[in-house]
Parts: sequence; structure tokens; C-alpha cells
Amino acid sequence: MCGVMGVIGSQSASRDVYAGLLALQHRGQDAAGILSFNSPEQRFHLVRGAGLVSQTFNRSAMNSLSGDAAIGHTRYSTVGRTEDRDIQPSIVPQPFGIGMAHNGNLSNYKALADKIRASQNRYLQTGNDLEVLQCLLAEGLSSSTARENAPGCFFFDDLRRAVELVFDVARGGYAVVGIIAGKGMYAFRDPNGIRPLVLGRRDGDGSHAVASETSALNITGHRPVRHIEPGEIIFIENNGALHSARTKVTRHAPCMFEWVYFASAESQIEGRGVYGARLELGRALAKIISQRQAAGARSSGDSACESLEIDMVVPVPDTSRTAAIALAETLKIPYRDVLIKNRYVFRSFILNTQEERERALKIKLAPVASEIEGKNVLLVDDSIVRGTTARRLVGLVREAGARKVYMASTCPPVRHPCFYGIDFPDARGLVAHGREESEVADEIGVDGLFYLDMRGLREAIGLPALCTACLDGDYPVPVAQAPEGFCGEG
Ligand code: SF4
Repeated sequence: MCGVMGVIGSQSASRDVYAGLLALQHRGQDAAGILSFNSPEQRFHLVRGAGLVSQTFNRSAMNSLSGDAAIGHTRYSTVGRTEDRDIQPSIVPQPFGIGMAHNGNLSNYKALADKIRASQNRYLQTGNDLEVLQCLLAEGLSSSTARENAPGCFFFDDLRRAVELVFDVARGGYAVVGIIAGKGMYAFRDPNGIRPLVLGRRDGDGSHAVASETSALNITGHRPVRHIEPGEIIFIENNGALHSARTKVTRHAPCMFEWVYFASAESQIEGRGVYGARLELGRALAKIISQRQAAGARSSGDSACESLEIDMVVPVPDTSRTAAIALAETLKIPYRDVLIKNRYVFRSFILNTQEERERALKIKLAPVASEIEGKNVLLVDDSIVRGTTARRLVGLVREAGARKVYMASTCPPVRHPCFYGIDFPDARGLVAHGREESEVADEIGVDGLFYLDMRGLREAIGLPALCTACLDGDYPVPVAQAPEGFCGEG
């Protein structure tokens, strides 16, 4: 998972992109970059660096990013490291000069990288899939423009043909934004629409923007026009003329995790509000807990639910808060925000190593012991992926004096790896992989565990199609095995 943003036709394009990246910071905190193009100078300007958006760009960096077109990126590395050369956006010089940034992963990265090395005699400078996408686009654009056009000429059809070639071979989930020097800004989205991308327009200056989420457009005053369709290619000329074509229509499969966890609560993804979806997730989960309570009351077994008494519903900050409020309202149980978050610690899930995540969690959340002591606490989290965070949280709440600790997840069990841009490419790291729910409960040390079911998830999000591969193994883009030698961008 990363965040992308692009703006064209604005006197303050790079400042718009900077503001948008601030709104997309939750999508990646490893590094950030902005690439602008100055038409009178016919020059790209690029600033990239490790760390948060606010740390990467100072006043002089922003002043250097001149031009009325700019693209930006917040980086979340799905595997391993952040080296300077892996930071996005990046440029290839030929043809024309192509800048690019993306959100997503190529599941066949290694095969494509090998093929590019062999067929183009090209040295790949990075270990990430952006470079592969950029090489594929550059190769397609080179052959299309060389075959069809007078030197230096470029038409939208050239781009369409080149992106179709990318779609033919690039498997996975990816949302791309870029600049073709002196020509305009382009964007495209993988044929399954796994990763999100939205188009916006500002009424005052007529500038266009594309971004991972509407939250970025809200900040820059770009009115969301529509979501870019799966397999759609957009090109916006310097004069504002917009071209679009849709190709490779396949199974639409937007990632369900956008609504469950990733996206900002104020965003609309695929036209579905994230906040509203999270309220519904909480209500659906409350129903499951009620049913388990009722079933437990009727049974004479020793189910943890038989004596399930919950004194308070406690959200695991921040994403689950919306769902926890709706869950508490539905169950008519007090809602208590008694895990106090240190706002200056990064989101633990998107830190790179297990050690980093463990360390971050220890200083990230502090329980209010005076409220928790002697109580039966129901923790509500958006999902349980590796189980480490859940286990540590349960320990914290027990240390604070809770009598019983239950946990509820607004996402069904995550049992399969993700090859489309999310940081769990190996099933062995997933706590629910190969385990029954009761075994997961034992692993994380709770007195009772409640997962939302698939039906509840689908109804809460309310879209006709979703990617749910990490839950049910039904991959919209076939994946033979985990990509080897891969440093994805997310
Ligand atoms: S496998 Fe899971 S996390 Fe990955 S894109 Fe699909 S739904 Fe999202």
C-alpha cells in the first residue's frame, strides 16, 4: 500500500501534491517524493527522501519543484528496505522523458524483470516493480511512436497502445500516475481495479488531479469527478484536454481492506464512503456477538459465550473506532476509549520488521487502568493479521487489571497471503493460517474471539464485487506462488 497523487494545470502543482500527500500519509510512511515538470524550461524537478512527507520537503525543496504538473508518492515497502533508489517517483529518459509513481505490486515481478534484462539488455537499478512498469511503458511507447508518428509527435492512441501492452503482461494490482515530459499527465489502473484511483477537477483554475483517495482531493479543492475504472487509461494534456479509454475489462475486484483498514475514514472508495462502511461493519459484528450470546445462553456447554458479559467496548485506535462505536450502540454496551494512543508513534502495521512493530506497539498504546480494572473488556480491532499486535494488546489490558478480555475483528480471518500490495506475502506469518478460530483465540490469549463473517463483510461494504483473496483464497489475478526476489512498493 502506497499513496499517489498527480496534478496538472495548476500554478501550484507541487504544493497541491504536497498537501495531497499529507492526506495520504497513512498509506505509507517510509519515504516520500514529488516530481514536477516545468514546461517553459522543459525540465523535470525531483525531490525524494526517507521519512514522512513533512520531513522530506522543506521550503527550498518546495521552491525547486516548479511547473504546472507534478506527481507525488508516499512509500510503504511491502518487503524489506527503503534505499534512496527505491523511492518514488522516478524518471526514464526515453522516449520523451517519462515520470511515474505507483501504488501496488506486480505478482509476476521476477519473471518480468528477468525478461526485461534479457530482451532489452537493460540493467535494472532497483529491486522494485515500479521500474519494471516504467520499462514496459517506455518500450511500448517507443515502438508505438516510432512506428506511427513523425519524430517528437505523441498522440493519446500511442499511450493507449503502450498501456495495453503493459496490461497484457503485468499481473497484480497497481494504480499508476505519471508525467510525459512536455505532453501531459497520465494515469491508469490495473484491469481488476484492485488498487484505488480517483479523478478530480478544480473549478477555479480547471486543473485536474488524480489520487489514491478522495481525502487528498478534498484538501486541494479538487472536486472528485469519478473513480478511474479498472483497465482505464487517462491522459490530460497541458491545455486541460482529457482523453480516456478503457481496455482489458475483466473481473472487478477492489481490495476490501481499503474499507476495513487502509483508507482514511473521510474518503470515498469506488463511490462507497469508508466511514459509512465501517459503521456497518460494526453493526454486522454486533449481530454476530448477539447471536453467540444467545446461543451460549441456550447451550449448557462451556462456551466462553455462555457467560459472556461485556462491561465495555474498547476500540483499538484508530481505524476501528468507527466500527466500535456502532458495535457498542447496537449492543447497548458502554463505549470507552481507554487505550490512549501516543500520536507521535508510527502506525505499527506498516513498519518493516517484526522487531520494529513490537517496539512501536509498546510505546504506542497506554491503557487507562483505573477504568479497566475488574472489568470484562471487548476489544474491537479492524483485523487480526499476524496476531502479534492483538497478543500484545490483550497482555496490556490484562496487566491493567481486566477480569476478562474478548476481542472482535471487523474482518474475517486472514488466512492467505496478499500478492497485490499489502504486507503479508507469506501465509506462514498469518495467525489464522491453518488455525481454527478457537486456536487463534488461544494464540492471542483472549477469553473469547469474534470475527465478522464473509457475508457481513460484503453487505457492510455493499459493492457487487471485491477482492477477498486473503480471506478465501479466491485470487482475482492467478498467482502461482509468492514472487521471489521481490521488493514491492505496496
Ligand atoms: S488479497 Fe486481501 S489485502 Fe490483498 S488486495 Fe486482495 S483483499 Fe486486499
